[in-house]
Amino acid sequence: MKVTSAEFVISSPGIKLCPEGQEYPEIGFAGRSNVGKSSLINKLVNRKNLARTSKTPGRTQLLNYFLINRAFYIVDFPGYGYAKVPQSVRAGWGKMIEGYLKNRKELSGVVLLLDIRHKPTAQDVQMFDWLQHYEIPTLLVATKADKLSRSQQIKQEKVIRTALGREQEKILLFSSLTGQGKDELLSLLEEIVQP
Ligand code: GDP
Repeated sequence: MKVTSAEFVISSPGIKLCPEGQEYPEIGFAGRSNVGKSSLINKLVNRKNLARTSKTPGRTQLLNYFLINRAFYIVDFPGYGYAKVPQSVRAGWGKMIEGYLKNRKELSGVVLLLDIRHKPTAQDVQMFDWLQHYEIPTLLVATKADKLSRSQQIKQEKVIRTALGREQEKILLFSSLTGQGKDELLSLLEEIVQP
């Protein structure tokens, strides 16, 4: 798939205010603050600054909708796991995301981003478990692949699979710096939105 257009549409505080009346399938992008989610989305759609990193990560609890090729939405989830976020905001995040995953009919799949250098956190595992529970097609993407050697990458892929309890799961390696994984990820997104 070639990305020919990408437009910001709306920031929604929850499922009740998501776009209505359209037929566009949605693909969610989830991950910890700082995992490289904005960089990955910008790289995918060939834009420098479409998806933006918030200056105070984790405080804006919004679903950001980007319409791609006038055919499907990328839905950028709020990053999780930022240490300074108050417990009340964290609880609100969980409720909002779970409500969306559970009830949003247009949701066709989720890309879960994990930093290749780190063992998945409890929140990463919880997100993965929710996706399994609600039977949402999920792509695992390891970000910042350029930061590790090939042998370290292989080691970390195993660490990630073990933490998620999925020894056979495919993990796509991605680098926003080099573009590694970009074409493959776009093909996988195409399969999700045009089954
Ligand atoms: P977000 O909070 O998940 O949206 O993360 P950002 O996209 O803002 O990235 C967080 C930091 O990681 C920034 O300093 C980026 O420059 C850096 N970063 C993101 N992706 C990559 C990557 O693929 N390779 C390298 N080396 N750095 C990256």
